[in-house]
Amino acid sequence: MTNDAIFGAAARIEEMRNNQVKGNLVLSRRWFLAERGGPEAVNRVTSKLAPAALELLERTVMPFAWYPFGLLMDIDAAIASEVMGGNVTRMRDFGHDLGMRDIEGVYRVFLSVASPVFALSKVSALGSLYFRESTLAFISTGRVQGEVELVGRSMPLYMCQYGIVGWLTAVLEVAKATGIEVVHTSCVHEGAFRCRWHCDWAFSGRTVRSPSGPRFGS
Ligand SMILES: [Zn+2]
Repeated sequence: MTNDAIFGAAARIEEMRNNQVKGNLVLSRRWFLAERGGPEAVNRVTSKLAPAALELLERTVMPFAWYPFGLLMDIDAAIASEVMGGNVTRMRDFGHDLGMRDIEGVYRVFLSVASPVFALSKVSALGSLYFRESTLAFISTGRVQGEVELVGRSMPLYMCQYGIVGWLTAVLEVAKATGIEVVHTSCVHEGAFRCRWHCDWAFSGRTVRSPSGPRFGS
């Protein structure tokens, strides 16, 4: 698997690498390796990393400080090849697991009482927790659907195509949506102007009272 199969458009590599990510994204890779990889997988990952990426994975990292996105990409590429067996689609599950973990605590309580539309409208604030020069913009298009667009520096292919899909699914699950479908509809790695995701869901899990009161029969 070449880096382009994981990272996407070669012309965008420097744009993506020169972004910065919060330390909590680095810490989540440690958690994933410990929980899902085990000692042998950790050894395979660390043996693939150049000194700077290895140091980031192993040194003291502050959750709210900024670190080079490029080094996180190197760690993720090693995870894709050494823990996921080269199956980069497994980044979707990783994104979902991270979403569930990240949204724990205050955000979980907050989002679990929100409608799916309201929860998605907050992904921009959540996105800026992770990326210094990128954010996620929400475009509301109805009660059971919406669009999310990446604004700013683009993301590597494994993240926009899979990780973010899993992460948005987690946001919608916490907001008690069912029948969730998240599709990466346009992608900078395929020449689109911006990466965009279409989200829809069947039912918000809440009873919506008709203004004219309950109806009996049909
Ligand atoms: Zn994309």
